[in-house]
Amino acid sequence: MAPSPPVFRFAPSPNGRLHLGHAYSALVNERLAARLGGELLLRIEDIDRTRCRPEFEQGIYEDLAWLGIEFAPEVRRQSQHFDDYRRALDRLDAMGLVYPCFCSRQEVKDAVRERETEAGTPWPRDPDGAPLYPRTCLGQSAADELHVLRLAMDRALAAVPSESLSYRLFDESGKERDVIVDPARWGDVVLARKDVPTSYHLSVVVDDALQGVSHVVRGKDLEAATDIHVLLQRLLGLPTPRYHFHRLLGDETGQKLAKSRLSLSLADLRAQGATPEAIRRQLGFT
Ligand code: GLU
Repeated sequence: MAPSPPVFRFAPSPNGRLHLGHAYSALVNERLAARLGGELLLRIEDIDRTRCRPEFEQGIYEDLAWLGIEFAPEVRRQSQHFDDYRRALDRLDAMGLVYPCFCSRQEVKDAVRERETEAGTPWPRDPDGAPLYPRTCLGQSAADELHVLRLAMDRALAAVPSESLSYRLFDESGKERDVIVDPARWGDVVLARKDVPTSYHLSVVVDDALQGVSHVVRGKDLEAATDIHVLLQRLLGLPTPRYHFHRLLGDETGQKLAKSRLSLSLADLRAQGATPEAIRRQLGFT
């Protein structure tokens, strides 16, 4: 049997207009997919029902078409697949790896402050700088009250062979190496939010597997989170794609571009007369 062609994906969230950082990410995907004779999929990551809006999703289609990036015709919208995520969650729950948590953000902060005062040492933080969840709710059972579901990290790590916790990292020249992951540094991560039966981590892992993604190309800001994704893949018996983390574009102040910082959107640039060719050239794609 001939090996199947590589599958790449670009997976934006429709919670604002796309900016140059997204264009860069999509173009790196396009370039690497072309180089390896692969297919490029588009996935709309719209599990956040309060921040995602139809007009932003329309904007994604417009901006990508304007840039001239071609995707496979079928687009996966996460909001249409909550059943898939719920099934994965049920499986983790049946393995005894999930527990409900009723803490608000403020309560987590207060609990951490209390422990820091007691111990006189700083409480550990995750790679994004947030305090690890102090496990206040561990052992509680689900009640009617709204809650998130967390992964019991210690039990999850005990459920998989530690030597299986690695992935293949590739660079733009195609060179590869193994990376060993350390999911424990994230603590008891949230697997399902209060309002939807999933989280970014869970849905990205389920979808990459369901869509047959073989090559994940995304920004360096998601490199550390890949540790969680590899652990979830092992727990759920899913394959681990190869990963490449591209650089993040800086704005004039050297900060990474983000929609929340109101960086100029592709739509703004287009309105100012920018052409797709100029954008490609500016970002180093010719
Ligand atoms: N939806 C994520 C974002 O817009 C990307 C997720 C991923 O590529 O894994 O930042």
